[in-house]
Amino acid sequence: MNKLVVGNWKMNGRLAANEALLAGLVPVAGLEVVLCPPFPYLAQLAQRAGGVGLGAQNLSAFDDGACTGEVSAGMLADLGCSHVIIGHSERRALFAESDADVAAKMARAVAAGLRPIVCIGESLVERDAGLVFEVVGRQLAALESLLPTLAADQFVLAYEPVWAIGSGRAASAEQVAEVHDFIRAWLLERKPAFVTVRILYGGSVKPENAAALFALDNVDGGLIGGAALDAAAFMAICRQAAG
Ligand code: PEP
Repeated sequence: MNKLVVGNWKMNGRLAANEALLAGLVPVAGLEVVLCPPFPYLAQLAQRAGGVGLGAQNLSAFDDGACTGEVSAGMLADLGCSHVIIGHSERRALFAESDADVAAKMARAVAAGLRPIVCIGESLVERDAGLVFEVVGRQLAALESLLPTLAADQFVLAYEPVWAIGSGRAASAEQVAEVHDFIRAWLLERKPAFVTVRILYGGSVKPENAAALFALDNVDGGLIGGAALDAAAFMAICRQAAG
């Protein structure tokens, strides 16, 4: 199966700057790419980004209706989104999203035909306290009730250690391998078919470290933040993911 590279633009971009960035992106054979701009620019990318999947960075846990300021799963599907990031650590930390909120959003995404990219990962305090598997296991357990009806290609998991995001300090290959292996084993205990669920790594992926991370078993691609805003860096990461 081809690897998946997701570009999370976070709260960055303007119409002209987005055009310039998109102009620097070219299709890479043997790779699936999804770009996740802020909500206002989804329509721009839907028209402009040929050959690339479109994803949002969040969605509402509620259905359409009296919910001012929210964006529903149905709206994202209507705009052509195939994916949606859920439970990014910035949302968990800055907007107090709980494991239960993440599960509710995942359910909304799946019901609308979107593929959720569910982010999980420990903070530095949790890692230093030896709680990595406990935290990741708890975040996975929150999704468990949704899994029986899901096929492997209906959702994506992203291991993103909080301390590695935007810090310039990616997790080491050993750290990534042990958590990805843990996540895969957890999935396989639920369903043998989950052997093909994509597990992405995210956290300071750069052209310099991408090849080593993507070479690991159970690393099926990457969730790229800062480097996704630089066309040359993002293309270099994509080429390494394509092998
Ligand atoms: C992210 O935003 O999900 C992320 C991994 O960011 P960065 O690549 O900048 O660490």
